[in-house]
Amino acid sequence: MNILVAGGAGYIGSVFVEEACNAGHNVTVFDSLVEGHRAAVNERARFVQGDLADRAATSQALKEAQAEAVFYFAGFIMVGESMTEPGKYFRNNVSNGIELLEACIETGVKKIVFSSTAAVFGMPDRVPIEEDFPKQPVNAYGESKLMFETLLEWYRKIHGLNYVVFRYFNAAGASASRGEAHRIETHLIPNILKVALGQKENCAIFGTDYDTPDGTCIRDYIHVLDLASSHLLALKEGVSGSFNLGNGEGYSVREVIDTCRKVTGRDIPVLEEPRRAGDPPRLIASSRKAITELGWKPAHPTLEEIVTTAWHWHQSHPDGY
Ligand code: UDP
Repeated sequence: MNILVAGGAGYIGSVFVEEACNAGHNVTVFDSLVEGHRAAVNERARFVQGDLADRAATSQALKEAQAEAVFYFAGFIMVGESMTEPGKYFRNNVSNGIELLEACIETGVKKIVFSSTAAVFGMPDRVPIEEDFPKQPVNAYGESKLMFETLLEWYRKIHGLNYVVFRYFNAAGASASRGEAHRIETHLIPNILKVALGQKENCAIFGTDYDTPDGTCIRDYIHVLDLASSHLLALKEGVSGSFNLGNGEGYSVREVIDTCRKVTGRDIPVLEEPRRAGDPPRLIASSRKAITELGWKPAHPTLEEIVTTAWHWHQSHPDGY
């Protein structure tokens, strides 16, 4: 199919682009390179540098790509920043998304696949989290993603634009050539691996007094290649709706650090710090719906495999792209 990938130069987008090219799709990447990296874009994909805020440029790119489906990875993702600069998140993740939706309608795109987040659920009463659990974001980032989910439903009703929403739990790991290289890194696994590489002295543990067995937060880590494979399934005729994507297994911050010590064979000193604002104690996905309805099957489900692939990538790209 002819597909346009907004945000295809970012971490998850670039891995998806690689997999979509492998699957034989005709891929155009549209990315502002504000956060993405040109070098992350697979050489088989066409690249257009542009900003979704620029409606004319977006429409033009969709027309030139003759896009039948759009993947919307582009977005700001830092929870902490969203609580100090909410406007940046609502503008980028919602307003720019509206421009993309309008451009899709104008150019006859049939389907949009949207990168959402576990953060739409806020602090769930129980785990594993199913798709219909209450949506009560506790940060502006999660709210911005939830707002766009709501918009998608209106555009489906009014314009007949099909959509698939994927709510990622904790994306991690790398493919052989593409990995996580954020300009400002806030995520746990890359920060631990920077310590293993000798680029940082220690890894902070944000909060050791949560109501969890070892007092640290529990998350469900999912391999970036498994996220990519779900997106390919979303292209199938008749697939629509919202899906949670995780492995259904939770690991505490301390368990993740221990796995990184084992995989890297390096000493990883930690620094216990206060809680980070807006962190739910425990987020674990039920991906039953994706497994049964899409036939999705994670190929790299173990934390050890996830960390091992991330470690290989960080060793071969110590300064990112
Ligand atoms: N975390 C940590 N130290 C870090 C980065 C993250 O203790 O340097 C914790 C964070 O508080 C959360 C978990 O690790 O409980 C996962 O955080 P991350 O930012 O990777 O993903 P999130 O779950 O916030 O999307």
